Amino acid sequence: MGTQALDLLVVGGGINGAGIARDAAGRGLAVTLVEQGDLASATSSGSSKLIHGGLRYLEQYQFKLVREALMEREVLLRLAPHIIRPLLFVLPHDASMRPMWMIRAGLWLYDRLGGPITLPRSVPVTFPHMEFSAGLKPDFRSGFVYSDCRVDDARLTIANALSARAKGATILTRTRFEGAKRVDGEWEARIAPRAGAAQTLRAKALVNAAGPWVVDVLDRIQGDRITDKVRLVKGSHIVVPKVHSQRHAYILQNPDKRVVFVIPYENDFTLIGTTDVPVASIDEGTRITTDEIRYLIAAANRFLMKPLAESDVVSTYAAVRPLYDDGSANPSEVTRDFVLKVDHDAFKAPLLTVFGGKITTYRRLAEDAMKLLENYFPEAGKPWTATEVLPGGDVRNFNAFRDDMQARYTGLGRNFVDGVVRRHGSRTPQVLGDATLPEALGRHFGGGLTQREVEYFVAEEWAETADDVLWRRTKCGLHMREDERRSVAEFLRKPGDSE
Ligand SMILES: Cc1cc2nc3c(=O)[nH]c(=O)nc-3n(C[C@H](O)[C@H](O)[C@H](O)COP(=O)(O)OP(=O)(O)OC[C@H]3O[C@@H](n4cnc5c(N)ncnc54)[C@H](O)[C@@H]3O)c2cc1C
Repeated sequence: MGTQALDLLVVGGGINGAGIARDAAGRGLAVTLVEQGDLASATSSGSSKLIHGGLRYLEQYQFKLVREALMEREVLLRLAPHIIRPLLFVLPHDASMRPMWMIRAGLWLYDRLGGPITLPRSVPVTFPHMEFSAGLKPDFRSGFVYSDCRVDDARLTIANALSARAKGATILTRTRFEGAKRVDGEWEARIAPRAGAAQTLRAKALVNAAGPWVVDVLDRIQGDRITDKVRLVKGSHIVVPKVHSQRHAYILQNPDKRVVFVIPYENDFTLIGTTDVPVASIDEGTRITTDEIRYLIAAANRFLMKPLAESDVVSTYAAVRPLYDDGSANPSEVTRDFVLKVDHDAFKAPLLTVFGGKITTYRRLAEDAMKLLENYFPEAGKPWTATEVLPGGDVRNFNAFRDDMQARYTGLGRNFVDGVVRRHGSRTPQVLGDATLPEALGRHFGGGLTQREVEYFVAEEWAETADDVLWRRTKCGLHMREDERRSVAEFLRKPGDSE
């Protein structure tokens, strides 16, 4: 690592850390990012996986957040069309819910607040409807259809890390930031790789993008004066076999005034979430409780013709929102906007700390972070990330590209190629090479995962464990039996790893 100081040390390999590392590296700064676990191993793989303005934030008058998020939705759709896809939402309505005029007005605003959009605008719909009332109880007679997007949150994080590395950043996973102090106008930081000896490195600026750990990281930094706090609010999801065969999602109004999403997931499944549960510690926020499972099932069953039971749940996940503490009493009302704070010492050795934020706004957050740091790095380049596609994203028309790939790899099977294209976009040929038959890809672990792709993840995308591959680089784990998942773990086990 040498004695020359880095420009930027970024702590945290979630979407915000990866986004800042990419932006800064692309402006010519020397960047290192440290992530204590795997990339996106915390909140950035546990979201509802939507790139959205957040319809419900309109009710809280968070117009600035909704406007910026809607504008960003259009930008991100262009940058990563393989992992960000348009999704129609159906909002069923009855007399017990928010009045029709209010929803109509909200959607009118939602269609326009972010400026010109390429997605279809909202329309009212009456039920029964061939498509838009699929799976709903016949009691619902009307509703609305509007547009948002879905995203593979973990892969968006990895795509940013890949781009950061391509621009010269060093990405160190399984490496913990232990602490830092200012020495002679620079940061001296201690980092500890999980395998190997701790190291010291020097950096001109430090970025704390540790998500739920943001205050823990602040506590490890000597002399910082940032006293803002974070609100830890857990959100959980359940996965069930698909509840209808159409392609749209539902947004369901709950009697507690919250909304619950019912989203088509991984072809065969439906994702239902989320909850808002304040937690005192991050550990408390990593598992769904039985009460949350019952809450989500009850929310869905108010609308679904065929009621779900707890035994239908095939998978769950929970994550902690690192929200900026704005003093709101209700966890659903704490701002989802991000807040950036900079602390410096005689205009040297700045510390930039990230509070809150959404997957949707990560790129804007990174741009704002760089704006706050520009005085310290006058040589840094201009904003650039709004137009340069993310790795895998240079497919002008996703469906046409997928058809091309299916024709090129016809011997590998349509569904299999579809899965690879959705993960890697224009990098698909880098993964599949000139394979014409399934045997060319080595072992087939099940769920559409092959030895060739696992080796690619290890060589190119920092994957080390079965969880990295089964739940973050892909969602193949969802389509596999337990013994198949174990075989991936065994394949990846290194000599000396514990059983
Ligand atoms: C239930 C739920 C649903 C959501 N749904 C949506 C949605 O649909 N759309 C949307 O736009 N947003 C959504 N969000 C918000 C979004 O997921 C988060 O705002 C975003 O993922 C936060 O990213 P981050 O990089 O700040 O944090 P994280 O992803 O948590 O990353 C922080 C990283 O820092 C690392 N770290 C911590 N301490 C150290 C250390 N000492 N050394 C090294 N590394 C360290 C952690 O391991 C972690 O990986 C949702 C959030 C939740 C919880």
